[in-house]
Amino acid sequence: MSDQTRFNLSENDIPKFWYNINADNPVPPTAVLHPGTKEPVTPDFLSVLFPMEVILQEISTEAYIEIPEPVREIYKLWRPTPLIRARNLEKALGTPAHIYFKNEGNSPSGSHKLNTAAAQAFYNKQAGTKALTTETGAGQWGTALSMAGQFFDLAIEVYMVKVSYEQKPYRRFLMETYGGQVYASPSDRTQVGREALKKDPNNPGSLGLAISEAVEVAATSNGKKKYSLGSVLNHVLLHQSVLGEEALKQMDLAEEYPDVVIGCVGGGSNFSGLAYPFLRENLRNGQRTRLLAAEPFATPSLTRGLYAFDYGDTAQMAPIVKMHTLGHDFIPPAIHAGGLRYHGMAPSLSALVDSGHIEAVAVRQIPVFEAAVLFARTEGILPAPESAHAIRVAIDEALKAKETGEKKVILFNLSGHGHFDLSAYNAYNTGSLIDYEISEEDITAISQHLPQVPETVS
Ligand SMILES: *Cc1c(COP(=O)(O)O)cnc(C)c1O
Repeated sequence: MSDQTRFNLSENDIPKFWYNINADNPVPPTAVLHPGTKEPVTPDFLSVLFPMEVILQEISTEAYIEIPEPVREIYKLWRPTPLIRARNLEKALGTPAHIYFKNEGNSPSGSHKLNTAAAQAFYNKQAGTKALTTETGAGQWGTALSMAGQFFDLAIEVYMVKVSYEQKPYRRFLMETYGGQVYASPSDRTQVGREALKKDPNNPGSLGLAISEAVEVAATSNGKKKYSLGSVLNHVLLHQSVLGEEALKQMDLAEEYPDVVIGCVGGGSNFSGLAYPFLRENLRNGQRTRLLAAEPFATPSLTRGLYAFDYGDTAQMAPIVKMHTLGHDFIPPAIHAGGLRYHGMAPSLSALVDSGHIEAVAVRQIPVFEAAVLFARTEGILPAPESAHAIRVAIDEALKAKETGEKKVILFNLSGHGHFDLSAYNAYNTGSLIDYEISEEDITAISQHLPQVPETVS
C-alpha cells in the first residue's frame, strides 16, 4: 500500500474511449416515448433537438466509443483529474477506513460537466449547428456549455432556474464572461415561460421548467438551434465515464480497490461516470464494490419517488422515459444544491437501482453542510453543496467502519467546487439554513401526476 496522497496520471492516460453501460447492462433498456403520441420516439423526432452522432450514442449498445481527438485535446486542459486520499479527513474522523476522492472541481468550469459539454459542442459543430439552447440550475452546466461553445464556436443560450439566478448572480456573470446569454426561467421568451408566469409571477422555477423553455426555443427555431442537456440521458452518462476509467487506474497506483463508490445524484451523470466502470468490473470480473448514490432528502427521487414513465420536463415537451420520479410538475424546495433539484433521474441508473445493482440514500441539508465544512477545514477544498452530499455519505460510511473496526476503502466523487456557493455557506454559518423536506402528501400524489402510457410499453 502506497504512502502517497495524490495519485496523478499523465496526459497519455486520458481515456481514448468512453464506456457505455448499455453494453453490459443486466437490465434491458426501457422505451423512450414521444411526449405527444406516447409511441416510441423516432430518430426524426430526436434530430430536431440533437445532432445524429449524439442520437446514435444515445441508443448505442457498443461497449466502447472512441473519444474524438478534438475532444481529447480539450480534455488535456484539465484531465486526468487528481485522485486524492483524504488523509486529514480520515484523521479527524478517527476512522480505520481509507477515503479517496476524485476531484472534478479541478476543471476550468468548476465541475465534471465540462466532460460532456466539450463532447456535445464538438458533435454539434461537426453537424453544422450554429447555436445551442440549454437550462441550468446552479449554473454549473451553463458555465460548462458556455465555455465549450467558445471552444467550438457556437452561440449558447441558457435558461437559468430563477431561484439560482437570484441566489447566484456571480454564476451568471461567469457564464456571460464565457460568452453565454443567460435568462431567468420562467422567462417571457417562451410560451411555456409566459404561461408559468401568468399562473404565478413569483414562480421560483425548476430544472424541469427551464428544460421546457430551452427545448421550446430549439424546437421552434427551424433547425437553427439545437438543444443540449447536461445530465440524465445515455450519451451524457457515456461522456462522464472518463471519471471512472481514470479512477480505476489511480486506485491501481494506490494499490487498493474500493469497497464502496459514492457520488451525489441530480440527474445521475457524475455518479454514473464514476460508478459504471466499477459496475462493469462487478459484472464482468467478479468485483463486489457497493455503488451508493447520494440524493437530497428534499428531492428524493430514488429513495421515495415512483419507478414509472414520466416526462423529462414540466411542460410535457421532452420525451417520456421510465425513471424514478417525483412527478414532472413537482417543484423541489429551494435547497442550495441547485444541481440536485430535478424531479427525475437517468433511466439507466433508475433501472439499476430498481434491480438492486445500485443503492441509494437520502441526506438532509444541514448534515450535508456539516460534512462540507469539515471537508473544507481538513482537506482545504470548498466543495459544491451538491458534492457535499457525497461527502456526507462517505463520512457516514467511514464512521460505520470506525464502529466495526473495518479497514474499508471508500471512493467518492467531488463533482465540483463551491466558490460560487458562498451565500449557502453563509446561511449555514449563521444558522439560517433551512432543512427542507417534502410532505407525505407530495409523495402519495406522485402517481396522479404521471402520464398514461400504452400497456405494451409499460
Ligand atoms: C450538476 C451537478 C451535479 C448533479 O448532476 P448529475 O448529473 O447528477 O451529476 C452534481 N454536482 C455538481 C457540482 C453539479 O454541477
